[in-house]
Amino acid sequence: MQGESDGDDASSYKSSSSKKRKIFDSPGDKYKPFQKPSYTRKYPDTTSNGEFIVFVEHCNKDTKIGNMNPLNLSKIFKNAKGVHERSRISARKIKIIFKQAALANDFLNAQFIQENNLRAYIPAASVERVGVVRYIPKEISNRELFEKISSDLDIIGVRRFMKKENNTFVPLNTITVTFSGTVLPQCIFLDGWRYKVHNYIPPVLQCFKCLLFNHSAKYCFNEQACSKCAENHSYKECTSEVLKCKNCGGNHLAISKECPIKASKIKKNISLRVNNSTYADITNNLTSFPPLTKANPQNVKIVPEKISAQDIINNQKILEAIISTIVSIGNSNEIKTTTHIKETFIKNFNKSWIVLILYSITSRV
Ligand SMILES: [Zn+2]
Ligand SMILES: [Zn+2]
Ligand SMILES: [Zn+2]
Repeated sequence: MQGESDGDDASSYKSSSSKKRKIFDSPGDKYKPFQKPSYTRKYPDTTSNGEFIVFVEHCNKDTKIGNMNPLNLSKIFKNAKGVHERSRISARKIKIIFKQAALANDFLNAQFIQENNLRAYIPAASVERVGVVRYIPKEISNRELFEKISSDLDIIGVRRFMKKENNTFVPLNTITVTFSGTVLPQCIFLDGWRYKVHNYIPPVLQCFKCLLFNHSAKYCFNEQACSKCAENHSYKECTSEVLKCKNCGGNHLAISKECPIKASKIKKNISLRVNNSTYADITNNLTSFPPLTKANPQNVKIVPEKISAQDIINNQKILEAIISTIVSIGNSNEIKTTTHIKETFIKNFNKSWIVLILYSITSRV
């Protein structure tokens, strides 16, 4: 991640007297990402109707499960209960959709998953949200933060942003907090102090080996490319005096933010995150509205007959919902099923719908 890494140097740390803390906060561990012990991603048992996604990969990364004969895969999954839909995501990943949370959870540890050397997991975006919190004193370890922070939502993990300075990692006063659920809380409390939680914009993932996007060098099967001249050698061996970007052919380093391709990916990440608006964003000005989960077009019937097509076109929020849907569908790497498009539109529409109702109520006053 840009400007962020797991701290591996904390030589100035003085171990506390607590025996328990010494184990976790020994030099080097202080700024390591801290995750709730024995945490595994699961859908909450309370969620009933919806689409519950599980990804499946082969434990051997050379085995391309996505390229296997689907009929053979069907045999492997024949004992899986409640499967609604299966699809290929990539050569190494397939997606299974369940209609019930409990059945999706059961699938994760099913016997046939282990027997076939597979790994089934819930995508983070389905059950977790990451927020950024600023101005957190640098001397507090991630574990201590995890123990001291309180929030309306369950906290899963804490990471601190680190900066590399003279070959050592230096802590910054910004942290990320991972929350359970699909909305961010407005704030967290640390020692009685209130801190605002901001959206986290993930950095663009660019492979250091081939310089293409959306995978890391660890999983790269492409040929090495030079970030200076785009030829097949390491940048360390490069003798070229002319810069040529591997991705766009332009006169810049392939890792540069000047690259229009990279810049557009950064922009997409930002717009995706903004679309993924939090509960706090929506309810900021609302005190008497139903929770988001209840506000779908089927059960919110307050003013529809009063709205003409022209009203809809004139309403910035409706237009935004349509644009958000087009952008997020266009940016998604997943296979675009009708279900996916519908879901995305409904999500964006619900967000606009609430604003629209507010708009119509305030305009009546
Ligand atoms: Zn690569
Ligand atoms: Zn080169
Ligand atoms: Zn470029």
